[in-house]
Amino acid sequence: MTVTSAGAVPTEAYDVVVVGAGVVGCAVARELARFPALRVALVDAAADVGEGTSKGNTAILHTGFDAVPGSLEARLVRDGQRRLAAYAAETGIPVEPLGALLVAWDEEQLAALPALAAKAARNGHHETGIIGADELRAREPHLGPGALGALDVPGESVVCPWTTTLAYATQAVLAGADLHLNCRVEDVSAGVPHHRLATGRGTLSTRFLVNAAGLHADTLDRHMGHDDFTVTPRRGQLIVFDRLARGLVRHILLPVPTALGKGVLVSPTVYGNVLLGPTAEDLDVDARTATGSTEAGLAFLREQGRRVLPDLLDEEVTAVYAGLRAATGQDDYRITSHPGERYVTVGGIRSTGLTASMAIAAHVAELLGEAGLETGPPRELPPPALPRLGEASERPYENARLIAGNPVYGEIVCHCERVTRGEIRDALAGPVPPASPDGLRRRTRARAGRCQGFFCGPAVRALFDEAKGAAG
Ligand SMILES: Cc1cc2nc3c(=O)[nH]c(=O)nc-3n(C[C@H](O)[C@H](O)[C@H](O)COP(=O)(O)OP(=O)(O)OC[C@H]3O[C@@H](n4cnc5c(N)ncnc54)[C@H](O)[C@@H]3O)c2cc1C
Repeated sequence: MTVTSAGAVPTEAYDVVVVGAGVVGCAVARELARFPALRVALVDAAADVGEGTSKGNTAILHTGFDAVPGSLEARLVRDGQRRLAAYAAETGIPVEPLGALLVAWDEEQLAALPALAAKAARNGHHETGIIGADELRAREPHLGPGALGALDVPGESVVCPWTTTLAYATQAVLAGADLHLNCRVEDVSAGVPHHRLATGRGTLSTRFLVNAAGLHADTLDRHMGHDDFTVTPRRGQLIVFDRLARGLVRHILLPVPTALGKGVLVSPTVYGNVLLGPTAEDLDVDARTATGSTEAGLAFLREQGRRVLPDLLDEEVTAVYAGLRAATGQDDYRITSHPGERYVTVGGIRSTGLTASMAIAAHVAELLGEAGLETGPPRELPPPALPRLGEASERPYENARLIAGNPVYGEIVCHCERVTRGEIRDALAGPVPPASPDGLRRRTRARAGRCQGFFCGPAVRALFDEAKGAAG
């Protein structure tokens, strides 16, 4: 088990290096780590896993009902949804199968619903149905006035994106993959039998290379001599409402999609609060770190939200955040194998990559096999011990047996989110430990509540510093 974040990287060659420890790269590393014959490394420029797009999305486990039929994305979202739902059940990743309602607010939108149901059927989803205004109101009593009906999509769920990424990375590391953080790949010399990757921490050698660099996948691609696409970030701003708003909404409420995209949703989260968003803003090609929120973006979201769920706007806002989708000017993923170069590009993983992650990983493993990677037989990996972040299942502070066994699980540190000292201690000692209090928040929910760490911040920081001091 090796996780490094400083010092020189190993000089011994790897069979496969995966660049990018977002949800996609972590899923690929986990998939490859199932093969004990392979020497695998996962590397990221950031100090933690999941620091890119993967930490800021809307956390929907999509069915893929609205994907472009016949596209690679449609296939991988559908397969990925099944795989991730099963994996979540096995590992304890929080998932809530709430179902989605695509609400029609005018006659034109109402008239579009049968075509959306037919598209869903072409994508293999035959269980959608159109419901009228009365049933819709009975199912969502707080909906704003004027809703005419909805497409009911029963299979849609909400999931925890943070635990998903952590689960993949943890399992990969426990199975023997190396994880090198603070390790930006700055250049690549393609070669035989090894590619050499120049990183800020020395040179990595590898026979096969997987590019899962998210917003920078095009740059890495160019280092390998390919000029197939350019990433233009599409920003999505979101507003998180306090958990007191949770009683206002029972389903994932989606608008009827337009040519501009999926639109603004209102959705419960697995943490017990409510999301409103995202926007879809095409940014300049260089704005790949522009994850700030804007007055105009938040005003737009409030205007959209007011129509859908007017009472939501009276609730308190816990946080705002934004993520950047890796748009490439094509309505599909840009997954390309270059077998002669022992190289696979996993680019353009736009707005469904969390859902599709495990299917993308299986697809990439297949492409590597076709390119000559001899994997040997796979093995089953035991489920990793994961934090219990989901509000729908028992949290540690509620578990009398756990607390009786160790009172540290009864000691609340973050009162808003009811996070205990035991959970913080476990996260800090985990196989893939957090590199910052923000990373600790994604592993425990500490500082993610209505006070945003105003109260617990110093105590959390002290525990973090203490653990890092002990480790260092
Ligand atoms: C607003 C929004 C809402 C979304 N909603 C959903 C949703 O509801 N459901 C869903 O399934 N998907 C959703 N998505 C999409 C999903 O979040 C992404 O598809 C997914 O996170 C992409 O993961 P990734 O691993 O490809 O990229 P990233 O998470 O960005 O990971 C790429 C990693 O590569 C690293 N990197 C880059 N360059 C280098 C380099 N040169 N050297 C080393 N490391 C490098 C970065 O540091 C980063 O960690 C949404 C996205 C957004 C923005």
